[in-house]
Amino acid sequence: MAQNGEAENPIVVAGAGIGGLTAALALRQAGHDVVLMDRAAELSEVGAGLQLSPNAVSVLDRLGVLEALEPYVCAPEYLRIWSGRTGQQLGRVRFGDFIRKRHGHPFWVVHRADLQRVLLERVQETAGISVRLGTEVFDLTSSPYDDLMCVYRDDTETGKLCCKALIGADGVWSKTRRIVPGHQTARFSGQVAYRATLPMDGVSERWARDSGLWLHKDSHLVHYPVRAGRELNIVGLVQEDWEDETWSARANTETLLHRFRDWPSDIRNLLTIPDTWLKWALCSVDASGPWTHGQVALVGDAAHAMLPYMAQGAAMAIEDAAVLARHLPSDVQNIASALRAFERERKPRVSRIQNIACRNASVFHYSGAGAFARDAVLRLSKPETLTARFDDIYSWTPDG
Ligand SMILES: Cc1cc2nc3c(=O)[nH]c(=O)nc-3n(C[C@H](O)[C@H](O)[C@H](O)COP(=O)(O)OP(=O)(O)OC[C@H]3O[C@@H](n4cnc5c(N)ncnc54)[C@H](O)[C@@H]3O)c2cc1C
Repeated sequence: MAQNGEAENPIVVAGAGIGGLTAALALRQAGHDVVLMDRAAELSEVGAGLQLSPNAVSVLDRLGVLEALEPYVCAPEYLRIWSGRTGQQLGRVRFGDFIRKRHGHPFWVVHRADLQRVLLERVQETAGISVRLGTEVFDLTSSPYDDLMCVYRDDTETGKLCCKALIGADGVWSKTRRIVPGHQTARFSGQVAYRATLPMDGVSERWARDSGLWLHKDSHLVHYPVRAGRELNIVGLVQEDWEDETWSARANTETLLHRFRDWPSDIRNLLTIPDTWLKWALCSVDASGPWTHGQVALVGDAAHAMLPYMAQGAAMAIEDAAVLARHLPSDVQNIASALRAFERERKPRVSRIQNIACRNASVFHYSGAGAFARDAVLRLSKPETLTARFDDIYSWTPDG
């Protein structure tokens, strides 16, 4: 045994976000000892809402956390799409029971903190996974005997831990990515997300029922219920020249209202309600770059952060965890080759979804003839037809 009762030669997972927590659980299910390190001293409430499509929920089911998560989720019947210019409804995407029957798992919306807490609790009660908070991973070296050593820093020391593989799940500003030669870097998209949650009892009933997507020139807005319907999550996405590496920069409500100055009054009124708005610069990491090098693999945003315009960033991190564990059975002989196989399997799907999200960034913000054509298609499409357009994304399961 190494220190803290940890097993010898574990797999180290760097980062306890959604990607790292699910990777730790999936690798443990595959039979590995895992040490999960996060630089944060405490995993606090970051971000706001998350849409969890059936492909992600199917992995969470496999990890055995659905029952613990269900009390905190909502399963909206529709995603309603509105014009942010006229305030009129353009179309509806059918979710609810329709999607559960179609894909075998539901489409849920949840507060990110609830998902993170449920996953962390499951990690903490799982023997064979040890968690070290306040511990930043920044390198990987070899010992004189050719053992692999993960190099970390905590508040007392710079230390080394012997491990058989390092999984970099340390997000869009990943440090472990630097260990992978030729890696891509995070690029600012020129777009910023303003995020807030507010108590549902302070707003009109119309916001409580379904998810909403509002489209306008150079901006759009997404809202849906979280915390079992007790809170409303709102995200306003605009083009803005501002970059920052945190999840929680304070935003100015006046600036936000200025960005939404030609929007319908009921949206503008909604935007005035939250006491606090946070903003987040949207960055992406090109998924076509390398994700693996020897016994190191990147997962989630570290490998392929994407614009949130398909609501699939966390879903892809969750899928990564399941596929990684499938390629790494406990008796795996050649870890480097298994990690390369993981990368080969994941890259085409993640790249395709990253490209769709990027295209949506244009389509959502169309004006003029483009907006007219887009709105016409939405008006003429049945809700079930719009849902079916996502079949190949939502029908994915961990078995491949
Ligand atoms: C506005 C917005 C809305 C979104 N909506 C959705 C959605 O509806 N559905 C969806 O699927 N996705 C959505 N996403 C994307 C999703 O949030 C991300 O893809 C997801 O959180 C990535 O998870 P991750 O675990 O890879 O990284 P992160 O969540 O960033 O976690 C990284 C962790 O690593 C830790 N860390 C960092 N560096 C180190 C280090 N060197 N050593 C140790 N630990 C380290 C950090 O403290 C952090 O805990 C959205 C994103 C945004 C910005």
